[in-house]
Amino acid sequence: MLNSIKARLILWFLLTFSLLFIVSGFYLYLEQKRATLSGVDRFLEAKSEFLAGLIEVDPDGQIHFEPQEVGIKRQSTLYDFSFSGHYYQVFFESGRPLALSPSLGDFSLPVEIDRALKEEGYFWTTTGPRGEPLRVYTHKVGLNHGPVGKENERFVIQTAESLEEAYAFLASLKRLLLYSGPVALLFSGLGGLLIARLSLRPLKLFSKEVGEISETSLDKRIHEGKVSRELKELAKAFNATLDRLEEAFRQQKRFLSDASHEIRTPVSVMKSYCEIPLRKARSAAEYKRALEVIFEQIKKMEILIENLLTLSRLEQKRLSTHLERIALDDLVENTVSLLAPLAERKGIPIRIVPRPSVVQGDKIQLMEVFMNIIDNAIKYNRPEGGIEITFKEEEKEIIVEVADGGIGISNEALPHIFERFYRADPSRAKEADTAPGKTQGAGLGLSIVKEIVENHQGRITVQSEPGVGSTFSIHLPKAA
Ligand code: ADP
Repeated sequence: MLNSIKARLILWFLLTFSLLFIVSGFYLYLEQKRATLSGVDRFLEAKSEFLAGLIEVDPDGQIHFEPQEVGIKRQSTLYDFSFSGHYYQVFFESGRPLALSPSLGDFSLPVEIDRALKEEGYFWTTTGPRGEPLRVYTHKVGLNHGPVGKENERFVIQTAESLEEAYAFLASLKRLLLYSGPVALLFSGLGGLLIARLSLRPLKLFSKEVGEISETSLDKRIHEGKVSRELKELAKAFNATLDRLEEAFRQQKRFLSDASHEIRTPVSVMKSYCEIPLRKARSAAEYKRALEVIFEQIKKMEILIENLLTLSRLEQKRLSTHLERIALDDLVENTVSLLAPLAERKGIPIRIVPRPSVVQGDKIQLMEVFMNIIDNAIKYNRPEGGIEITFKEEEKEIIVEVADGGIGISNEALPHIFERFYRADPSRAKEADTAPGKTQGAGLGLSIVKEIVENHQGRITVQSEPGVGSTFSIHLPKAA
């Protein structure tokens, strides 16, 4: 389930929303609690001020507390009504009570006269006569007027308010928050689902377009302009992969038809050479000639099939590579000496400038590489052209350059010469004299060379000018 992007999106949405809801719910509740209690406190302070004003001193020094003088009926009623939740107590500094609100009945609020006289006004919470939560404000007031001997008289006033209503309000707020939680969660889930659907829609359309592409419609592409911005890169990468796939498919198809073509020619030659002697009796010399031609074609086919197998094994990197330290200069010199008779026959001098160069590689495969390259350099040469082989050493690689003064390769042909069965000039290649064991102009040599060099973590490059000559550079990593 968590493998699905949609499920994950919804889950994240729910988690974020729940966290937000819980944090803001807590904050709201605590802030409301603080505001409510602070409202009660301000009310108690105001009441206390108000009660202080009711303390009266007669000219003869008698002290009274006159609630009836206030004339606010509602206020006096609240304090008159038994256990109404609104209380006050006024004390002389000696601790003797001056006035107690009738609402207290027989109940008396605990009071700390000494603390009240020492400290500024303070608030606390206790339990009232009905067992209700009670907020109490205790503070002292001075008379600052009155007859001599009484002007410094101090009193302690306590005002108290029941917190029942405030607590009830907070409890209902808590309930509201708790009950609305699941509802909000449900809505956020639905919102998450909607957002997930909307945001995944382009991906759905994208996969639909991708799904329509098959091996028969590899030319189709995703419309990069149509997909949303976030998917553009994906579409680009996908189209690039399709380009490569299409090219690989095209090459595969061409390879198959080229291979069939190559095999068909010797087969039809053999067929016709079998048919002629089969139609009527021939002389021994004629039979011999027919068998020779057939044998020649079989050898050709054998080499072709061998080359095809080598290529396919190389491509699958299955060809066993016996890696060893190889003196590349010796290997190239040996190859040249094997091809020397062919070069001599064509009157092409080969100059080799050796230099000690050691690489890590498979001897037989590397021999095959230089066999092909030098064979080509002889095959596509001109009477007055020669071949020069030089060695270069760089920090990490050895470069062998095989330069010929031959016919060269046209700019159109140059990018294709490493493709299988590619021949720049088939008629010329077929006629050309070639080394024993090499396919005569089948166009497979350079593809095999490229595969082998790349299997050795190397690369091959070519520079050529028609009518002037070609230079093949084989780069191989130096032995450690
Ligand atoms: P082929 O069997 O035809 O020689 P290769 O794969 O060896 O096949 O070479 C492919 C083609 O590249 C050749 O047909 C030829 O046209 C061109 N080519 C290769 N080497 C040379 C060279 N040294 N000079 C000119 N053309 C070359």
